[in-house]
Amino acid sequence: MSNITASRLELVERCPAAPALPAVWTESTDDQVAGTERHRFLQRAGEVGREAAVAEVPADAPWRAQVLGIDTDEIPAGGRYEIAYAYDVAADTAREQGQWVERAYDAGATEVSGTLDLVLPPGEGRPRWTVIDFKGFDEVAPAVRNLQLGFGAVALARVYDLDEVDVAIGYIGHGGDIRWDRATLGAFAIEAHALRIRSLFAAVDRARATLAAGGLPDFSTGTHCRYCAALPFCPAQTAAVRAFLADPPTPDRLALLSDEDAGRVWPLLLAVEEMTKRAKASVRARAELSGLPLPGGERLVPVLVPRRKIIDLDGMLAILREQFGAQADAIVERSLSFESVGELVRQVAPGRGQKKVLDALTAKLLAAKVVQSTSFVQLKTRKAKGDAPAPASGEEAA
Ligand code: SF4
Repeated sequence: MSNITASRLELVERCPAAPALPAVWTESTDDQVAGTERHRFLQRAGEVGREAAVAEVPADAPWRAQVLGIDTDEIPAGGRYEIAYAYDVAADTAREQGQWVERAYDAGATEVSGTLDLVLPPGEGRPRWTVIDFKGFDEVAPAVRNLQLGFGAVALARVYDLDEVDVAIGYIGHGGDIRWDRATLGAFAIEAHALRIRSLFAAVDRARATLAAGGLPDFSTGTHCRYCAALPFCPAQTAAVRAFLADPPTPDRLALLSDEDAGRVWPLLLAVEEMTKRAKASVRARAELSGLPLPGGERLVPVLVPRRKIIDLDGMLAILREQFGAQADAIVERSLSFESVGELVRQVAPGRGQKKVLDALTAKLLAAKVVQSTSFVQLKTRKAKGDAPAPASGEEAA
């Protein structure tokens, strides 16, 4: 069975040796869970209406504020969510694997599997089959050359015998606002994506053959390695991390490095951080079962710590007032997240004017000095000016 999936294609393009190594199963990240739940919400909004879909979102779900901010009128109707396909690189054919299969693919030896977030047949105002991939905040390769969308276009073209497919990335912000990146892929573009996928598959086969013969394929290290399931088994990374740990650069030594050398250290720091995170998760899982002996005679033991969440603020205040009188109001912190403002705007101004209303309200709140605006620096990886375009699969750096 092939272990190459559409979501890994951008990584495989950077390092075809990655799927040739064993991979470690990891829990879905919070972002992945939020992404799947977002799709479930959008599907339910189409089936039962927005209000009923909102009622189904758990009150304490971390993704609640984001999905409630989504203007569902912006999402094209009449499509199917979370459809898995398989593209056979040997036969150049594709097949549907099912809906909501939760990445439990049933792929053959020469198939690449992938799940398309939303697939829409042609309809009113939509002349072509359309594939939509929803993303979070992090930028990925543009729709026109995005390999994950390219996989979707190839799959649909083969299944439905199409010459053109519309593709789109919908970036959904923290407040539910959507930014679209759209493209139409014609016959040549679809063939180019199919060729790209077939070439990658062949490159992975060559890497596997080299490993099987006792050799070492080319491992291309970089910031993408932190998304690689084979990271703990990668000879290139383990050698680099071992050398790094044997002589870790101190902050004062780092300060003396040139920008180029500091830039070279960055992917290594990410790899060390990722390996440490995975190692910690593995040891933690063992400790949670029955504890672990620590050097020095102590034990690392699992302890159940109660976590309390207020679900009825008024009810709680009534009891506190009864017990402590007016003091209760003085010490109880009143808090309202800015996402709640977006939620209110969504309720009173549904539809396309929502962003305008939110912008005007934000300006008003800032002018009244009841809201403070701050910003933080987030590092992202971007192509240097003049470089050839290359994939960027959600490759945020820290
Ligand atoms: S960790 Fe990096 S270099 Fe190693 S196999 Fe994965 S992508 Fe390739």
